[in-house]
Amino acid sequence: MMADDERAHETRDDAAWQDDVRQGVRYVRDLDHLPLSPAERAAAQAAAANHKVRIPKAYLDLIDWNDPQDPIRAQVIPSPLELVEAEGELDDPIADHEFSPVPRLTHRHADRVLLFPTYQCAVYCRFCFRKESLTSIGRGYSQGALEPAFAYIEAHPEIREVILTGGDPLSLPDKALAEIRARIEAIAHVRLLRIHTRVPVALPSRVTAGLVEALQGRLMVTVVTHFNHAREITEATEAACRTMRQAGFVLLNQSVLLKGVNDTVEELEELCRGLMYRLGVKPYYLHHGDLARGMAHRRTTIAEGQALAAALRQRLSGICNPVYVLDLPDGGGKVPIGPCHVEARDGESWRIRGQDGVVRVYAEVVESSRDRGAHRCS
Ligand SMILES: *Cc1c(COP(=O)(O)O)cnc(C)c1O
Ligand code: SF4
Repeated sequence: MMADDERAHETRDDAAWQDDVRQGVRYVRDLDHLPLSPAERAAAQAAAANHKVRIPKAYLDLIDWNDPQDPIRAQVIPSPLELVEAEGELDDPIADHEFSPVPRLTHRHADRVLLFPTYQCAVYCRFCFRKESLTSIGRGYSQGALEPAFAYIEAHPEIREVILTGGDPLSLPDKALAEIRARIEAIAHVRLLRIHTRVPVALPSRVTAGLVEALQGRLMVTVVTHFNHAREITEATEAACRTMRQAGFVLLNQSVLLKGVNDTVEELEELCRGLMYRLGVKPYYLHHGDLARGMAHRRTTIAEGQALAAALRQRLSGICNPVYVLDLPDGGGKVPIGPCHVEARDGESWRIRGQDGVVRVYAEVVESSRDRGAHRCS
């Protein structure tokens, strides 16, 4: 029967992703099997001492080894430039630790918390803004380690969203995910479980029926993926996203703006269209490169980012368009830093730049202030 055949084709089992992990880069010594020059290999090994290397086979296979500037390669193969630290770079670029009342939890906005079930990932991205935590804490999952965080969430009824991040939560076994989900689900004031993950990008075979089932329950589930380039959109990543959409998960994506990876309007346009039109994933944030150490070679200027954001706004539909944000280092949170369209204001008269670049005068029309006052005071 047709439907059964299709389902058999779609179902990925644990053996598939385990092969992807085993045949990928797991240890520094596995870099020896990659087509790097001796100089590149030595540099990569030195850089890997600072931030772990791990690349599943599915992601490794996307690299074009003939192109030294390949955008997939740039995201995962250690570069000697990572060892060059610039003044102003930080260990904890977005102040995760400053807002951490108990281990493995960050609470900066009243209604939502970050929960760190593991500090390990399926892939280690060279530009990671948490790489210091991944190296210095580095630990995996245990239910006991999370108990103080769960107790904290229980004691704070204003928390509505629990965001699993890390590390990569989807690098955990189904059983651990089901345990975490059940524990959070038992806290009545929590409404939504959000998962920040690069697994659907780098290890799409891990998105199995079992994984999806582990997350299903009372809570609304939102998965925020992390695609940075259109070349990461493949049949395998399509299948992973389809599985999650069919489970009823809301899918969003955050990208990091990275010099030499995705800092052209053509690349970002193709990425955003592919996300929405092929994967059914809504582009959510485009992050300005944060101040992680050794990443100056991948950072653009804010002005460059703004020009890209303005061009995307012109080219893409609203649903394909991400918000360009900066996560302020002192814990000021994520703020939009895209081009500003409001040029000036004179009372009820605003000068606003249109999408075509032309500034227009917009006169507000509301009830007069005297009338409104009359409604309020008697
Ligand atoms: C990014 C972040 C969130 C989530 O913010 P949204 O704007 O809701 O995506 C929550 N807490 C902390 C500490 C964060 O860094
Ligand atoms: S998957 Fe996320 S947390 Fe892990 S290395 Fe990549 S960016 Fe960092």
